[in-house]
Amino acid sequence: MTRIKDALDAVAAAIIAQKDYLTDLDRQIADGDHGINMARGFQAALDAVEEMDDTTKPGPVLYTIGKAFIRNVGGAAGPLYGTGFVRASEVCDEDTKLSVASFEKLLGAAIAGIEKRGHAKKGDKTMLDALIPIHECFLPEHAEGKTLFEVLQEASHAAKEGVDFTKTIAARRGRASLVGERSIGHEDPGAVSSMLMYRALYNFLR
Ligand code: ADP
Ligand code: MG
Ligand code: MG
Repeated sequence: MTRIKDALDAVAAAIIAQKDYLTDLDRQIADGDHGINMARGFQAALDAVEEMDDTTKPGPVLYTIGKAFIRNVGGAAGPLYGTGFVRASEVCDEDTKLSVASFEKLLGAAIAGIEKRGHAKKGDKTMLDALIPIHECFLPEHAEGKTLFEVLQEASHAAKEGVDFTKTIAARRGRASLVGERSIGHEDPGAVSSMLMYRALYNFLR
């Protein structure tokens, strides 16, 4: 994962490019700021990582990204994604490299942190409805016998299925829960941003 800074550049560019789209999705069921929040978070992360002396190790870079989100983004998603990046950074070590096992470990740690902080679970119509299906693809029972690139591709499909699932359910967490049943038929903005982040990373890696 020595290209971690280049990966950040790719993911940040994708999210910043989709700022208006994410904001429109959020406007349908909540307060219409998700794209603004995510673009602000990624711009802050780019600026903070630019200040680092050594950007070759994934742990410190992920930590810096997480702190930038927590410090600079209001709303629910900023601190939740920030916590996810920080928790992922904590399970990195000297020999963390690109592999199914390291993806599984980092995503698992991020999800556990997001669940603990936000008290949401799968099916509540949140970012977790994309993140959990992505993570499941990297678990040994799914990934055994497959190459990293096969698993990365499957996870890209799983992310889309997760987003589609959020259309069918009512929000039980976050601002969208205020409109309850009326959120049915709309994609969850945070699930979409998770899918877009994952897909940007996938396109960068393949
Ligand atoms: P806010 O809702 O404060 O305006 P954003 O619009 O940036 O913040 O983020 C909204 C997204 O955050 C939702 O679409 C959802 O995916 C996610 N979210 C909200 N609350 C939670 C929670 N408790 N756990 C996980 N994700 C959540
Ligand atoms: Mg919002
Ligand atoms: Mg808001």
